[in-house]
Parts: sequence; structure tokens; C-alpha cells
Amino acid sequence: MEECRLCPRRCGANRVGGEAGFCGAASEIRIARAALHFWEEPCISGREGSGTVFFSGCALRCVYCQNHAISHENFGKPVSCEELANLFLSLERQGANNINLVTPDHFIPDLVPVMRAARGRGLSVPFVVNCSGYETAGLISRLDGLADIYLTDFKYMDPEKAAKYSGAGDYPERAKESLEEMHRQVPEAVFDSRGIMKKGIIVRHLLLPGMVREAEKIISYVFDAYGDSVFLSLLRQYTPFKRASERFPELGRRVTKREYERMVDFAIGLGVNNAFLQEAGTADASFVPDWDMGA
Ligand code: SF4
Repeated sequence: MEECRLCPRRCGANRVGGEAGFCGAASEIRIARAALHFWEEPCISGREGSGTVFFSGCALRCVYCQNHAISHENFGKPVSCEELANLFLSLERQGANNINLVTPDHFIPDLVPVMRAARGRGLSVPFVVNCSGYETAGLISRLDGLADIYLTDFKYMDPEKAAKYSGAGDYPERAKESLEEMHRQVPEAVFDSRGIMKKGIIVRHLLLPGMVREAEKIISYVFDAYGDSVFLSLLRQYTPFKRASERFPELGRRVTKREYERMVDFAIGLGVNNAFLQEAGTADASFVPDWDMGA
């Protein structure tokens, strides 16, 4: 990574030399939090919790990000590969149903040997790769045989919206390519007797205010391409923050009940069977975890 081209930003940072790229990452792996997390989809968290590890930095950096401190400000602390493998094993000992790697994309080359090492030391729960959808297919291919579950966002179908809110006009094309590679690796969902996912793909779409039509295009695309082999997770938890609404006033409100219901009705009308819906009352800053791994 002397001239990093790992993600679609292809910013060319000399990460080996300690230069941070657009994503905020340099040579060390940094994490902001590692803990059991109970608010993922039910088949991911279960009653025991998902062993989430939040990585610092992000290659997408949406203006409305709810995890701004880690995605934009690179909050977190460095961890060695051995410490990280120990963390995975510790989360499994605490009862985690899986090891949930949140926004790990910019660290994948270093994470691959850590994932293998943890498996070699007896880790038996699935690895969940929880990502933004803004990855190259080549990067996702490095996880072939290691990632059991992909929990991926699909944020935009309109390049103009992707450029406006995430500075990534190529997001729709990258998200399609990335999902295709994920599906090549994990074509079918598998659950255990408790309903906990062991393998599969969940595509999340966070409905933004005033953007039901955008949501419908995404749902149509995913369902037309993959049918019920890919689960949809339709999120209503968008929380307006001042830093986004000052620049884009249309982002300054929550999603209405009517908007969310229109999105859900559209999915049902299309014939979608495998979808997770989100209860009202989840659009609150209190649902943002406490980042507890400051340097
Ligand atoms: S992963 Fe980070 S450093 Fe590498 S190209 Fe992407 S933004 Fe730049």
C-alpha cells in the first residue's frame, strides 16, 4: 500500500510511509469499539449479541453519517494483528453469535491473515463483513472463503445523489459490482435451528427523507437480480444532524411514517418475501454507540 488503490477512491496515499488516505487509514489497523451489540437484524444479533468491531475511518464518508466520529474524524486506537485476533476470540467466549467487522474495507489486506489466524485458533462463529457497498469487486474477492455473511449497504441508485451526499458519483456501479461478487461467494442463506444466520447476504437500505423513489429503484434492482436469495433490510433510522442539514436542508428532518410505509408497500407489491423491517422510534442519536477506544 505504498500507493493505495484499494478502494474506488484510488487516492494513492503512501500508507506504508504513514500517510493517511481519503479514508483516514494509514499503516496501522485502528478500531473504535469492540463489544457485543444487540441492535443488528435479529438473525445477526440474536439474544446473545453480535461481536461487533468498529473500524476507524471510512472510504465513503456520507455527509449524514451517524457514526461521524469514527468515519470522518478517525476516532479510535491502533491494534496489532495479535490483539485483534484475541479480541475476536474474546467476543466469541462472551457468547457472540458472530464476529461483525464494521467498515473494515480499507484494512482488508491486513485483516485477511488475522481472520485466518483466528480461525486457526478455533474461532467457530461466522465472520460478518458489514460494509458501505462502496468497494471494488477485486477487494471483496480477497474475502472469498473467509466472509460468511455480507451485511452491506446499498445507498443510492442515482449517481447525482451519490455525488451530492457522499462525493462518490460511481457509487451505484461499484455497489452493483461489489454485490455481484458477494453473491458469487455466498449465493444462498443458511440459518441454524435458532434462526441465526450462518451464511448469507443482507442488503440494507437507509431511507433518506424525500427519497422513496430512490429506495424503490434499489429494491427493484436487488430483487430483480437476486430474488429472495438476498435479504433486504429496510431502515427508517435516519437521524438528522446539524452538520448535514446546514449544507443540505432537505436532510434536516426524519423520515415520515408515510414515507417508510410507501417503501415497505412497494417491496411487498414487488413480491419480496425476505425483508427485515424496522420499528418506529429508532431514529434517535441515542442509538449511536459510545465509542470507547480513543487513543
Ligand atoms: S482505501 Fe483509503 S487510502 Fe486506499 S485508496 Fe481508498 S481511500 Fe485511499
